[in-house]
Amino acid sequence: MIYGAIEAGGTKMVCAIGTADGNILEQISFPTKDPTETTQQFLEFFQNKNISALGIGSFGPVDLKTESPTYGYILNTPKLSWRHFDFVGALQRELMVPIGIDTDVNAACLGEMTYGCGKGLKNVIYITIGTGIGAGIAIDGNLLHGMLHPEAGHILLTPHPEDFYPGICPYHKCCFEGMASGPAIEERWGEKAADLQEHTKVWEIESYYIAKALVNYIMVLSPEIIILGGGVMKQKQLFPLIRSQVTRLINGYLHTKELNDLDNYIVPNSLNDKQGILGALELAKRASPLSL
Ligand SMILES: [Zn+2]
Repeated sequence: MIYGAIEAGGTKMVCAIGTADGNILEQISFPTKDPTETTQQFLEFFQNKNISALGIGSFGPVDLKTESPTYGYILNTPKLSWRHFDFVGALQRELMVPIGIDTDVNAACLGEMTYGCGKGLKNVIYITIGTGIGAGIAIDGNLLHGMLHPEAGHILLTPHPEDFYPGICPYHKCCFEGMASGPAIEERWGEKAADLQEHTKVWEIESYYIAKALVNYIMVLSPEIIILGGGVMKQKQLFPLIRSQVTRLINGYLHTKELNDLDNYIVPNSLNDKQGILGALELAKRASPLSL
């Protein structure tokens, strides 16, 4: 059985077909354009591929309530042409296969839980730190949606005592994304994160915000593992800094085997940046009645 998968990002779309055991057979990517043109490109890729279901990990906000009249629609995105676009409906009308949809970060979380370092665990957080910040969250084995879906990149933080940068988020200024996303680093220091590797202050401040966010997630959600991906996390020097700041901030309050082994608790993504598309493939598998 062949499944289709889409990782729908604000700037790039990835399409793939693969098998139930996570073997990607063919994959393409192209820049995100308006929904009509992009849908056409999806249909061209999937036609004659004989897929039995499709999974989509999408940028948001997206309506994930199956009982909602706008289920599978993109909601109030700043990308105007995509606002209120019936993403699932447009593809279902043409492909006529079951479609599973979730957020891009929930799909990545699912990918890591199915094939990567979250395998066998039921309470997992996957956080991407790049152009934006978002988190996919699984609780008791289920991807968390709630009233909409978590927007965990916008939790409010307190500034680092030596950081006078106000924050780039137009809504909150000093939220996680406002202080620690790639564009925040670039605006604060006047250079791209990738060009600042040697500057220890940059990463000390960055790890401070990431650690604060992680401690908040740890206290609320009690995850069994925290997986970090995205462009900023390519700076591997961040990992030991984050782990030591997390220990400092928890300050002896919690004692678990996971927190005693932070090298295996706060970890980089493990699937070579394929966690999103593999998670979308798993969403397809789960949407297919034939897979049961
Ligand atoms: Zn914000």
